[in-house]
Amino acid sequence: MEPFYTRRYARALDARDPLRAYRKLFHIPKAKGKQLIYLCGNSLGLQPKSVSKYINTELNDWKNLGVEGHLRAKNPWYYYHHFFTDSIARLVGAKKDEVVVMNQLTVNLNLLLISFYRPAGRKVKVLMQAHEFPSDYYAVEQQIKFHGLNPNECIVEVQPRPGEFTLRTEDIIRKIDELHEELALVMFSAVNYYTGQLFEIQKISEACCRYGIVLGLDLAHAIGNVPLKLHDWNVDFATWCSYKYLNSGPGGVSGIFVNRYHAKNFDLPRLAGWWGNDEKTRFTMPKHFVPQPGAAGWQLSNAPVLSMAAHRAALDIFDRAGMKAIREKSLRLTGYLRRLIEHLNPQHLQIITPPNPQEHGAQLSIRTLRNGKALFKKITQAGVVADWREPDVIRVAPAPLYNTYEEVWRFAQILCGA
Ligand SMILES: *Cc1c(COP(=O)(O)O)cnc(C)c1O
Repeated sequence: MEPFYTRRYARALDARDPLRAYRKLFHIPKAKGKQLIYLCGNSLGLQPKSVSKYINTELNDWKNLGVEGHLRAKNPWYYYHHFFTDSIARLVGAKKDEVVVMNQLTVNLNLLLISFYRPAGRKVKVLMQAHEFPSDYYAVEQQIKFHGLNPNECIVEVQPRPGEFTLRTEDIIRKIDELHEELALVMFSAVNYYTGQLFEIQKISEACCRYGIVLGLDLAHAIGNVPLKLHDWNVDFATWCSYKYLNSGPGGVSGIFVNRYHAKNFDLPRLAGWWGNDEKTRFTMPKHFVPQPGAAGWQLSNAPVLSMAAHRAALDIFDRAGMKAIREKSLRLTGYLRRLIEHLNPQHLQIITPPNPQEHGAQLSIRTLRNGKALFKKITQAGVVADWREPDVIRVAPAPLYNTYEEVWRFAQILCGA
């Protein structure tokens, strides 16, 4: 066998890759007639070739059936959100009544905060991670103001230790222990968008359960990337987007998880719309809202079928490949990239994503110690699609469904100037 740092070794890994056939299912962007090395699936996943067929099915039914398509389309639009239940429940580790596909991520986050951030007495605070994605922070800040409270006093952020970039689970748990009498909610992204750190959700949830603190998760960078067991972990609620690792297209439809524990708690305040109403009486147009039990009762509007058609095409690929095989390749592929970079040992770069497989997904966040912007420009000109995050980080996320070991090998050479 060749040494691991050779191109031939990378090619041999590709030849033995059980998922190698999946790359052909995607459109790979090109520049000057050459395929780019696309490492930006954590931001916008690539388009499955089957998407146009799935969308065309709906366009044809709309063309030929008009309004009748709600019940007579090949995939009746009235029930369109049901078609996702099995796949999504598998991806997030939920019972079927705990998930529904709807809206966009930040919209859903706000809907869920209305129901699950219930400050009372001394319990008014929200624990978040340092450097949380801005949209999540804005949503929490604003919800706190709706309750007439001061976000500066109510949001507590867990910070990395001096000189460190990621959080230690023990520090998160310690904060929960310390503040439990004041915490109403722990609101965490399961994978941090900036560092790529995957948090130990089960341990965080155990701490929350000890004190009856609600745990909400944002799975934007987790769904389709890492294995999830929301039900078994006793997470209260979660939401995600489908356009990152799930490859469902720009602005693609989001979804929510609500733990069965809350399924029939109709006393929770919530915003309402006809799609959350009992499906059987929906078209009898009852005057008063009767929420469906479970996550479905949080729906407001009818299903955006065209974007959902893209989502179906993308999820069919996940169903076929299976999250187990996807995660196995992901750990190997991203692990290979880390090993190559460490071997080339560039003095101006530092990987800040945790090395422990329990604490990362596909992404590596590479901190540049000098001339980072120039380096980013160089890799872009060499045909790599990655992204730059201020002040000094290049994010790359090899996607196990369409990236190859050879691409990762080439990227490492370009990055390290070998
Ligand atoms: C991508 C991402 C979002 C995006 O929110 P949208 O409502 O889909 O625009 C929000 N939060 C996190 C953590 C993200 O990674």
